[in-house]
Amino acid sequence: MSVFSHPEFDLHEQVNFFHDEATGLKAIVAIHNSNRGPALGGCRMWNYANDEDALTDALRLSKGMTYKSALANLDLGGGKSVIIGDPRQHKTEALLEMMGRCLESLSGRYIAAEDSGTSVADLKVMGRHTQYVAGITEHTGIDGQPSNGDPSPATAYGTFIGLKAAVKHRFGRDDLNGLSVAIQGVGNVGYRLAEHLRAAGAKLYVTDIHQDQVDKAVNLLGATAVHADEILSLDVDVLAPCALGAILNDNSIAAIKATVIAGAANNQLASARHDMMLKQRGILYAPDFAINAGGIIDIFYDRVGHSPEKVSRHIETIAETLDEIFRRSDATGTPCGMIANTLAEEHFLKKITV
Ligand code: NAD
Repeated sequence: MSVFSHPEFDLHEQVNFFHDEATGLKAIVAIHNSNRGPALGGCRMWNYANDEDALTDALRLSKGMTYKSALANLDLGGGKSVIIGDPRQHKTEALLEMMGRCLESLSGRYIAAEDSGTSVADLKVMGRHTQYVAGITEHTGIDGQPSNGDPSPATAYGTFIGLKAAVKHRFGRDDLNGLSVAIQGVGNVGYRLAEHLRAAGAKLYVTDIHQDQVDKAVNLLGATAVHADEILSLDVDVLAPCALGAILNDNSIAAIKATVIAGAANNQLASARHDMMLKQRGILYAPDFAINAGGIIDIFYDRVGHSPEKVSRHIETIAETLDEIFRRSDATGTPCGMIANTLAEEHFLKKITV
């Protein structure tokens, strides 16, 4: 399995392969760039079809973390780890403890947080053997509620702030009263985003593959339930993808009626060219890794001293970042995703002096 000629290899600094026969641990830790600080990113456990897919995920996701943290002005680099295996079948305490030992051996160049297939409790087990895990400290969340480290409330708040910035740019208004918003996925982030939007007076349309989630949004937030196939093409002001990646593709973009896309889902663009397609269709796209940075901001403060006020203030800078992206895009005709990439690179690339 080649790393240096892998299509997702992007000058990654370090890619580590770990194996432990006794516990069955097979893991990859990818450190993309550490110019701004230690590489922080989730530890994903997934039943990958093959090792190649696991490497692809580690390379791609670690790069994404570099861009997300740099754009959010955090002193963090980008990294990601993947454990190969079905979390429901292969996750044992011994395996997680061994993962902790592997992380410790990297001496803090990479710090793990929770991700798909791992929980705060799993990170705490790893933490028996390493100090290099984050997002596991109990604190008061930005919503004033006790938090076990789950970053979802912070991600939802940041997405709400970013959505408001996009609405201001597109419609020239500061309030959301009566504005219609379609939310795809009312899970941990999407439901909390819906709560913020409801409190701000928006009209909500929601879908989810879990009917109980939809029922909750309908009953408690007065949302209108929509069939999953209809949500992307609904005649609304704003579309907020909060479920899957790659939902902005040739078919969906042609059918989208919303003129603003502002949601928390990662990797919304099916490919880079869809960024330009949105621009050409006159749709204002809030780049996913800019608008959904609330969670990583929350985890960062877990390391340096958490206070709900500091975290909220930092999350609110997402509005300024998006505003800069939107203005640069207007001025140059370059699509928003590409502008966000360039801005992030300005933040993390060191100038090479000779
Ligand atoms: P979640 O699993 O709690 O919620 C996702 C919801 O989407 C679920 O309720 C699921 O049933 C629904 N869903 C899945 N497929 C769907 C489909 N085809 N149609 C409609 N609904 C569907 O996850 P989450 O933590 O809320 O994260 C949501 C998105 O935001 C993900 O893309 C995630 O990567 C991204 N994100 C989350 C965080 C965070 O702090 N949790 C941070 C950054 C980015």
